[in-house]
Amino acid sequence: MEPLSPGGQLDGHRLTCPFLMLSLPGERVRMTGVYEVTHAGHRAMHDALLSAGETFPRCRECSEYVLFRFVREVSEPKPSHISEDPDFGQDELL
Ligand SMILES: [Zn+2]
Repeated sequence: MEPLSPGGQLDGHRLTCPFLMLSLPGERVRMTGVYEVTHAGHRAMHDALLSAGETFPRCRECSEYVLFRFVREVSEPKPSHISEDPDFGQDELL
């Protein structure tokens, strides 16, 4: 009988690999720009604008199970700021 190995499970730390420029809710936004937002499954991936100095917000639906990936610096077409998205409350940005 073998004990369950925790090493065999998917390691969430890999999601924050800096080379992929992935961020999680609660982290500080380092670069103003357009971010691709990936949810746990309740909605499709979408783009949002975030400004440096803000905190990546939690989603109302999937809480911290949301990933932000830097896509590009701000240029046209410009998506809405994340605080205007119904899934992300303005209060979470403070
Ligand atoms: Zn979500």
